[in-house]
Amino acid sequence: MEIITKVTDIQKITSSLHSVNKKIALVPTMGFFHEGHLCLMRRAKELTDIVITSLFVNPAQFGPNEDFEQYPRDFENDYKSAESNGTNYLFFPSTEQMYPKGDLTKIQIVGFTKKFEGVTRPQHFDGVATIVSKLFNCIIPDYALFGQKDYQQVLLIKQLVRDMLYNINIIVVPTVREDDGLALSSRNVYLSPEERLQAGIIFKALEEARGAVFEGENRRKMINAYMHNILRSEPNIRIDYASSADADTLDEPETFLPGEHIVLLIAAYLGKTRLIDNSIVSIPMEPGVKKHYFVEGI
Ligand code: AMP
Repeated sequence: MEIITKVTDIQKITSSLHSVNKKIALVPTMGFFHEGHLCLMRRAKELTDIVITSLFVNPAQFGPNEDFEQYPRDFENDYKSAESNGTNYLFFPSTEQMYPKGDLTKIQIVGFTKKFEGVTRPQHFDGVATIVSKLFNCIIPDYALFGQKDYQQVLLIKQLVRDMLYNINIIVVPTVREDDGLALSSRNVYLSPEERLQAGIIFKALEEARGAVFEGENRRKMINAYMHNILRSEPNIRIDYASSADADTLDEPETFLPGEHIVLLIAAYLGKTRLIDNSIVSIPMEPGVKKHYFVEGI
């Protein structure tokens, strides 16, 4: 595995790979790898010969009071795990490489990005859209892989690809979880042992609402109430949002229609740590009939 730190170098490498018809898969990350990241790399390796993992803690997607400085970093360990999970090139640029002095361009996607995560983290998605667009432009991948864990981000990336006419296949990988259902996240290291135990309640809340939908609940506020009730049973948790919405548009009608795919979205704080998770479920045609319950991927 090679480490590449300069934009001009990754451009040279990818253009020579393209010239010999090699397909490239890009896995954008902020590092501190866990099994979720490694799953993306392994899936990328199944798709193509050449896997490029980018490791860049992107300052533009952090708000002024967020954890950019404290964000966990462990380059040596990341290097080893990227290498042993199929990455050929680890693109590890500096901030100056990605945001050259005097840069004035931002990519902004309007509409659904202003909801949910966009309320609490108003600059976040502009930062994500801008960095991903820069990575797409300098690498020109055939595939780019993202985790379902960051659901609204996946919708944003798909919108970016459509709107900016990128010829890139977006592959979404299901969320990798701990035994109690907690979604793996680099930020889980912030949790104290007690908070770590309490964090399992987020998955329980998603499962409770899924169960209610399966049994026939299709009123949005009632579905949300199932999540709120479970989350409230853990006094240490502070809910940012626990909401259901159309899985494609994030619209929030009063009632969902049979066959409609919906997403259950939770963001909650345990102490200072903000955790997010989601689950997709379809409104059954016939409540209680299992085949309509689980929806794989998105
Ligand atoms: P990050 O380093 O947190 O920006 O994440 C890099 C990529 O890994 C994103 O596409 C995330 O959605 C994905 N990812 C993070 N956590 C998980 C997880 N638990 N399961 C699957 N993918 C994940």
